[in-house]
Amino acid sequence: MKPITKSAALLILFSATLIGCADKSLLPTASSPIPTATPQATAAATPTPTSKPTATPVPTPKATTAPTPSPVSTATPVPTATPKSSVVGTNPKPSAAEKVPYSWYYMKKKTGQVPDFPKETKSFTADQKAVWVGTGKKVYLTIDAGGPLIEVDLMLKSLKENGVKANFFISGNNIKKNPDYLKKIVADGHFVANHTMTHKDFNELSDDQIRKEITDFEALYKQLTGKEVEKYFRFPFGSYNMHNLSLVSSMGYTSVFWSTAMRDWEPRANGAEDPYNDIMNNLHDGNVILMHQGSEENMQALARICKEIKKKGYEFGLVNELESKK
Ligand SMILES: [Zn+2]
Repeated sequence: MKPITKSAALLILFSATLIGCADKSLLPTASSPIPTATPQATAAATPTPTSKPTATPVPTPKATTAPTPSPVSTATPVPTATPKSSVVGTNPKPSAAEKVPYSWYYMKKKTGQVPDFPKETKSFTADQKAVWVGTGKKVYLTIDAGGPLIEVDLMLKSLKENGVKANFFISGNNIKKNPDYLKKIVADGHFVANHTMTHKDFNELSDDQIRKEITDFEALYKQLTGKEVEKYFRFPFGSYNMHNLSLVSSMGYTSVFWSTAMRDWEPRANGAEDPYNDIMNNLHDGNVILMHQGSEENMQALARICKEIKKKGYEFGLVNELESKK
């Protein structure tokens, strides 16, 4: 047994958390799962699997410090620690295993190859309705608008001129401040899904607070568009646990994670070249791309990215075409 040191665990988790995280304005909260996650580091009873030294989530310099699997996955007591029947969150009181906090990440491989995904995905059940990658010559462009709204017109123009329909995960507080944003996106025929009302880390909320985050968004969406929002959901910061996955699913939602993300909540060293390269270098079948609306460089690169993806023979799809892995 190789216990992971607390600081290493923290660093790894922090790095993974940031990868999955979202918006510049909310970045500080991205670190909040860290303290709650540390106890697991001591629970690593299995030898560290050697399978993923390549396991660097996304192009972050920090990721190289994480040659071991995420502390969360090594430590996860899910299969053994619960004598209970399953991890599905229908129990009145969730077990400790169901509350183990995770941050979504993936392990990039060579261009064209589908990345590896965290070990915890193996415990997902069909009922939990999670998706993160598709199959075939399809790409799913998902745009996270839980933070600043930048270059909106440029974005919409780039999508329209290239005949691309994107999937938008928008937080309600953004829509409240800027209802025209939503209306333009809906008018252009894009797919809009639920990204909560206030973009908080769900691992820090009670069940009631979570339900309210989701239903408040539904009500606002209906008020502004006259329609029900699509029952697709993205956890703010990619921060989830098994209980919350089940809870969200019990409200009718499929949770959408991703297979490409970028450190796009901070300025990019090489401008629009960076998002272009990050995406093209990880392009693979069924690619679910996460990009943040709050990145100017993303918006500048968007038209070129759309063109190049199509040139490589991919079509753009909507997340409601993705099938759950289970
Ligand atoms: Zn977000």
